[in-house]
Amino acid sequence: METQVKDSRPSEDGAAIRRRRSCPECGGRFTTFERVQLRDLVIVKRSGRRTPFDRSKLERSIAVAVRKRPIDQERIDRMVSGIVRQLESLGETDISSETVGDLVMKALRSLDVVAYVRYASVYRDFKETQDFANFLGDEGLSDEGLADGGSNDEVDDPHVIKRGLGEQDLSSTDDA
Ligand SMILES: [Zn+2]
Repeated sequence: METQVKDSRPSEDGAAIRRRRSCPECGGRFTTFERVQLRDLVIVKRSGRRTPFDRSKLERSIAVAVRKRPIDQERIDRMVSGIVRQLESLGETDISSETVGDLVMKALRSLDVVAYVRYASVYRDFKETQDFANFLGDEGLSDEGLADGGSNDEVDDPHVIKRGLGEQDLSSTDDA
C-alpha cells in the first residue's frame, strides 16, 4: 500500500505514464502505468454476453499473434493504445466483440502481415489449410513473404494461438 516512486516518465507516445516504484518494507521494485480512460467500455459478444472491456486481455491476444515477430514492444503498446482510443471514440459504451476484432485486424495488417494472418486464423476460425489459402488469396497476400513466419515454430501450433486468444473474449464464437 505504501510505495515510493523512484522514477516517472511518459510512455506510449505520451498516452501513459510509467512509474518505477519500490516497497519501503521489503525493497521490492515494480512498475505501474497510468493511462487516460475516457469511458468504461463493455464488450458485447454475439451471444449477448457482456463483459467489462479489459485492456490487458486485448494486449494478451495481440501478444500471441505477434509472438517472436521482430516488432518493438513500444510499437505494439502504441497500437493497443490506438485501438483503445478508437473504441472510446465510437461514442458508445457497448462495443461488439466484432468491432474490436475488426480494429485489431486492421491494426495488425499494417503492423505485421504474419501476425495479421495468425490473428485472422483464430478470429475467423480457420478450420483447414484451404481457409488460409483462400484468405491469403482474398487479401492479396499470397506472394508476400509469409515463409519467414517460422513454420516449425511452436507458435504456429493452432492450439497455442487458440489458447492465448481464448482469453480475450473477442472470438466470433463463444467457445473459442
Ligand atoms: Zn514489500
